[in-house]
Amino acid sequence: MKKKIFICGISTECCSYSTLIQNKKDFEVLRSKKLLKYINFPYSKHDNITFIPNKFYRSLPGGPVDKKFFIKTINNITNDLIKSTHIDGILLIMHGAMYVKGISDPEGFFIKKIRSKVSNDCQISLSYDLHGQMTDTIIKNIDYFAAYKTAPHIDVNQTYSRALRMLIDGILKNKKNHIIWEKIPVLVSGEMSSTIVEPCKKFIKI
Ligand SMILES: [Zn+2]
Repeated sequence: MKKKIFICGISTECCSYSTLIQNKKDFEVLRSKKLLKYINFPYSKHDNITFIPNKFYRSLPGGPVDKKFFIKTINNITNDLIKSTHIDGILLIMHGAMYVKGISDPEGFFIKKIRSKVSNDCQISLSYDLHGQMTDTIIKNIDYFAAYKTAPHIDVNQTYSRALRMLIDGILKNKKNHIIWEKIPVLVSGEMSSTIVEPCKKFIKI
């Protein structure tokens, strides 16, 4: 029987102090073939997998995301996930810098909810921005993790593919992966976070 991979996500970057709240009209939703094309993966090489592109909500960086819209959106995705039975893996496309007033870790909230709707055998792979915020909730609820290695980001599709390849490998080989999170004692300002100049150039091996 073919293995099934569900693809979804919500991605934006928020300025917490902005008064401009992001809502439905600010998000573009990629679905079905458009979403598969956007990820740009060699799907045909994996004919033992059925890819189920659901919805990817994305917006340009803006203010906080409206809480009602956020809850409605994640319910929308999780309801679709419940209807798609026997899912073996999930690819989550996220940014990692969302701010929703009243929810301290929106990405973790979303990922935990996704995890609660599938069996323990289902593996979850997360694709992230290298500037994304990581939390214990996220680490506990995913099996694979990939982040961009470049800023400015020129490896977006490679990162999606890496996250998907790890997931496919894990599912087909029935591997159980463990993620270890190590904080490094480095703090760089946004202006200094480019990986084409020091100090970040030497941190990331491309
Ligand atoms: Zn970024």
